[in-house]
Amino acid sequence: MTTELKHHWQPAEKKRHAMAGRLPGGKQYRGGETLTTLCERSVEAAPSTDINWLWPTCEECMRAAKLRVGAPV
Ligand SMILES: [Zn+2]
Repeated sequence: MTTELKHHWQPAEKKRHAMAGRLPGGKQYRGGETLTTLCERSVEAAPSTDINWLWPTCEECMRAAKLRVGAPV
């Protein structure tokens, strides 16, 4: 089954934010890259570490992500 990713997540600025589309094959963001999130902010990507992935999920991104995939909000 092929699933087109509608968004992906990245720790940034002490929260896990979502970005539109798919992350290009196997690529990881470097810390400090500027990302545009589903909550319509411009944030600085944090390095993908085990600790950073435990930051709380951005509520606005979660809501936007749910709308994108048709999940109940
Ligand atoms: Zn967000």
